[in-house]
Amino acid sequence: MRHAVNTPADKVNLLDFDRKGLRDFFAELGEKPYRAEQVMKWIYHRLESDFENMTDVGKALREKLSASCYVGPPKTAFEKTAIDGTQKWLLGMDGGNAIETVYIPEPTRGTLCVSSQVGCALNCQFCSTATQGFSRNLSTAEIIGQVWVAAKHLGNVPHQQRRITNVVMMGMGEPLLNFDNVVKAMSLMRDDLGFGLAGKRVTLSTAGLVPMIDKLSVESDVSLAVSLHAANDELRTELVPLNKRYPLAELAAACERYINRAPRTSITFEYTLMKGINDKPEHARQLIKFMRRLPGVNKVNLIPFNPFPGTRFERSGPDEIRSFQTQLLNAGVLTMLRRTRGDDIDAACGQLKGQVVDRTRRQAEFRKKLEEGVVNAA
Ligand code: SF4
Repeated sequence: MRHAVNTPADKVNLLDFDRKGLRDFFAELGEKPYRAEQVMKWIYHRLESDFENMTDVGKALREKLSASCYVGPPKTAFEKTAIDGTQKWLLGMDGGNAIETVYIPEPTRGTLCVSSQVGCALNCQFCSTATQGFSRNLSTAEIIGQVWVAAKHLGNVPHQQRRITNVVMMGMGEPLLNFDNVVKAMSLMRDDLGFGLAGKRVTLSTAGLVPMIDKLSVESDVSLAVSLHAANDELRTELVPLNKRYPLAELAAACERYINRAPRTSITFEYTLMKGINDKPEHARQLIKFMRRLPGVNKVNLIPFNPFPGTRFERSGPDEIRSFQTQLLNAGVLTMLRRTRGDDIDAACGQLKGQVVDRTRRQAEFRKKLEEGVVNAA
C-alpha cells in the first residue's frame, strides 16, 4: 500500500487506520489486538509519533514497528495566528500540494475546520477553493493528521484538556466525494482511543450530494451542515452548480431521511450572504418556505461573505444582514449569525493557498464523472 504523507518509502502510515484497521494490521504483525489499542492511545492521547518514546510498549514490538511503519502527520509549511486568536495552518502534501486547517477559539468551545480534498471540483461560484480546481482526495492519514497537527500545536489532551471540542469537515473540498477516507477519519475523531469527540461535535458539511447523504446516514451519525446559499432552484444552480443534478426538493427529502435515520444528530443550513445576490426580503421568504418543509430541522447559519481576490461578489451590508436575520427569526427559524473570524489571516476557506495551479483538464474530467454518476458511486 502506498501512503501519501511524508512517507518513508514502503512503510505503512498508522494514521491511515481506524481502530479496526489497526487491530487487523497488528494481527498481521503477529501481535495481540490490545497492543494496537495501546499504541493508538500513544498516538492520539499523547500525540506521540516516535515509537521509541512509547515506554510501555515492549522493546521487541517497538523495533518491529519502526521497521514496518511510522506515524506520519502532514508537515506544517506555514502557520498564522490572527488578532482574534484564530489559527491557520498550511500543511504540505506530496506533489507540492497544500491544504488548510483552521482553528477558531470561542469562550465555550474550540472548533477545528478540516479539509478533505486538495482543491474542489464542485465550482461553487463564491468559493475561493473552487478557483484552484480539483487535484486529489486526501488520505485518511492526511485528514486525521490535520487534527493531530492542530492538537499538538494547541496542547490538546483528549478527555483532559480539550482545546479542540468540535471538528467541522468544512475546509477545502467536498467531503462526501472522498467518502471512505472521510468516514474513517471521522471515526478516529469520535473513537475514545482517538480524539473522543461526541457525534454531534463532528460535523460534515456538504454542497448537497443526495445519494451520499443517504449513504452517510447508514454509516455514521455525525451532524450535517448543508451549504444552501439560496432557496430557489434557479439562483442555487447559479451559485452551487451541483443543484442542477440534485435540486432543492431532492435535497430536502434527503435531509429528512437523514434526520429520521439518525434522530440524535442535527442538520444546519449554511447561507452565505452576498450583496444584492441572495440577501433580499424575497430570498428570506424563500428560505423560510424551504425550512417549513423540514419541521425536524430548524437551524440556519448566516455567514457574511468573506471576499477574496478576483471574486465578483461582495459582502452584504450590516443593514441587509440584520433585516435578513430578523425576517427569519420572526418566522420562527432559529438563525445564528456567524461572526467572520481571522480576517487578518484570510481564514476563509481556500484563502491561504499559494500559487493557483491550472488544473482545468483534471477538473473537467472530474465534473464529467460526476455528471455520469461515476464519482457518487465511489
Ligand atoms: S464551497 Fe465547498 S463544495 Fe463548493 S467549491 Fe468550495 S469547497 Fe467545494
